[in-house]
Amino acid sequence: MAKEKEAKAKEKPEEAEEKITSVTAVIEEEPQLETPKEGLATELGEVKEIEEVIVEEVKRKGVFEKELWTPKTSLGMKVKSGEVTSIDYALDRRIRILEPEIVDTLLPNMATDLLMVGQAKGKFGGGQKRIFKQTQKKTQEGNKPKFATFAIVGNEDGYIGIGYGKSKETVPAREKAIRQAKLNVIKIRRGCGDWGCDCGEAHTVPFKVKGKVGSVEVTLIPAPKGTGLKIEKECQKILKMAGIKDVWSRTEGQTRSKLNVLFACFEALQKLLQVKLQEKTAERLRIVEGNLKI
Ligand SMILES: [Zn+2]
Repeated sequence: MAKEKEAKAKEKPEEAEEKITSVTAVIEEEPQLETPKEGLATELGEVKEIEEVIVEEVKRKGVFEKELWTPKTSLGMKVKSGEVTSIDYALDRRIRILEPEIVDTLLPNMATDLLMVGQAKGKFGGGQKRIFKQTQKKTQEGNKPKFATFAIVGNEDGYIGIGYGKSKETVPAREKAIRQAKLNVIKIRRGCGDWGCDCGEAHTVPFKVKGKVGSVEVTLIPAPKGTGLKIEKECQKILKMAGIKDVWSRTEGQTRSKLNVLFACFEALQKLLQVKLQEKTAERLRIVEGNLKI
């Protein structure tokens, strides 16, 4: 122990010197040190514990109390008074949803999930998947960590939203992400678009769609019933939340950048509703928009 203390004491002045000479800079990841710092293990352990608690909290659906909500937007007031009873009212008229409570009221069966967009650092190579993406900014006072997380909300029946939240702490980052996900809710068009399948249920995407973000391009292709979700693991969660059960897919570009893959997947889903369809085609493809049959 004494030796360790001595070693620490020796380290300290060096650290101080570093601080003085270091200029403010932003880096993505802290460079791997040859010998891990002593404090690091406990810090990581704490973060892991917090993360577990947060995941549990998210799964345990918080009860939304409509009575306590005081709406601030005209859409919010209409929703609370009961004039508007369907989220389609806002989505079809392209009214921007500015209060997450609107979604809580109109889509009460929404489930929430946080996707694995980060990775653990430290011993044994690190790299395990985590829900928080940690970044650090180097300043004169030291390293300032920041946490980011990716949330999805969905009712597994045609409605889904995604959100990305960043903060200096883990809990506000999660709150921001979930709030953003609720404000971003979209309607999904589903159908039975595979030529070999004629089951008549809306279980897959009705036609091929592409979404592109950065260099990543995700293509969703209609698949026959029973195929399952043949796509990257975190995208599976998005599609499952949207209520899509079968899909083939193709992913191109720098797919290691996980966030772009997820955003591209969401963009592809958004495009489903932008395609104009003739009535005949819509009937043949058994189109379901949101949870309403066309
Ligand atoms: Zn089918």
